[in-house]
Amino acid sequence: MKTIAQIAAALQGYDPQALSADQVQDFLSLLVEPVIETETIGIFDALGRVLAQDVVSPISVPPHDNSAMDGFAFDGGQLQAGQPLVLRCRGTAFAGQAWAGDAGAGDCVKIMTGAIMPAGMDTVVPVEFVQIAGDQVTIPADVLCQGDNRRLLGEDLMAGQPALVRGQGLEPAALGLVASLGLATVQVFRRLKVAYFSTGDEILSLGEAPREGAVYDSNRYTVFGLLTKLGVEVIDLGVVKDEPVALETAFRQAAAQADAIITSGGVSMGEADHTKAMMKQLGDVAFWRIAMRPGRPMAVGKITEDGRSAVLFGLPGNPVAVMVTFLAFVRPALLQMMGAQLREPVLLQAHSAEALRKKPGRTEYQRGIVSRGADGTLSVRTTGNQGSGVLRSMVEANGLIVLHHRQGNVAVGDVVDVMMFDSTP
Ligand code: AMP
Ligand code: MG
Repeated sequence: MKTIAQIAAALQGYDPQALSADQVQDFLSLLVEPVIETETIGIFDALGRVLAQDVVSPISVPPHDNSAMDGFAFDGGQLQAGQPLVLRCRGTAFAGQAWAGDAGAGDCVKIMTGAIMPAGMDTVVPVEFVQIAGDQVTIPADVLCQGDNRRLLGEDLMAGQPALVRGQGLEPAALGLVASLGLATVQVFRRLKVAYFSTGDEILSLGEAPREGAVYDSNRYTVFGLLTKLGVEVIDLGVVKDEPVALETAFRQAAAQADAIITSGGVSMGEADHTKAMMKQLGDVAFWRIAMRPGRPMAVGKITEDGRSAVLFGLPGNPVAVMVTFLAFVRPALLQMMGAQLREPVLLQAHSAEALRKKPGRTEYQRGIVSRGADGTLSVRTTGNQGSGVLRSMVEANGLIVLHHRQGNVAVGDVVDVMMFDSTP
């Protein structure tokens, strides 16, 4: 793992006191490394995991040309424009077995969906298209073309082709695809372990009595949710008081077991607390001021314990800032550590339903509610109060309006980018 100084030297214009959101992402992509250990697991355990190896198809899917419809198979070369075609039915081809009979010109075979196409036949007429009289089947003129309603051998996958590639996340469709190849297991990267704790003397754990000046810990729960959705193993270290011994114990415990440590609180400028001091003492850590809103302060680096290093993400304390910095920076960095191929999140474009004040020179993430108007266009309005402590704004929103670094004020009707919460890959 590279040191903070090495990464800083490699980045043009690096100023820890004034980093842009893009520079933060560049820095983190140089700091983190993918896990190397892999394991082979069954498909039912593989949802959300990341493939460590290409999956090469051992078979062709489908393995034979087969019928896509219930109907009659025949040689489509006999079709002539403007002419009905009269055929004689010679038997039935059932799904899962080859039809053993003999048929030639002027013949057809009744066929079930999925049944192997009889030799010499390449077209299926659906049963609802034909007139049947005894063994005579009449296809009206101009209802189909040669090759219709036939699925070709290997049209889903050809034997020897990579069906899935290393770094791909295993979503439900991928699980089914693996099974369709006859494979029961996949090789995946081991699950990432991420330790989390909240810091601050004013933070109450659930079950504690309310007291003046104190707030209940919410970050621990939002971070738990964000991490769990990502598919990592979460190590919950609770709320840690702002005392050197407690902090040192928590950081050492976290670094000894986890690949990454996430904390919240205690990294703002001028905080007279021990969190930053302990990060400095135990690790190689940079303290940043990011040109963004919400979420200006952040500490990043690594903490080493027993010869193992864990990446540290010291997030600000405000509940919205925690979620925004997680989505903007921590999530892509963790995906990289999980071995996942990074896909840029798809930003949606929507017309702003309100004027938004925005200063160029920082990135703003406003909580937005995107809706589709009667004319089909997307519009977005904010959730109102954008204070970084207003967690309700994250609950009401369905995405973050991303006002980019150079962008200025937004007028009603202007198009803005939105990072949707459930379309982020
Ligand atoms: P800090 O960054 O430590 O100055 O915290 C900024 C604000 O976030 C303060 O108002 C804290 O009370 C609040 N805060 C810090 N940690 C948490 C937490 N775990 N849950 C809820 N609020 C928090
Ligand atoms: Mg604090």
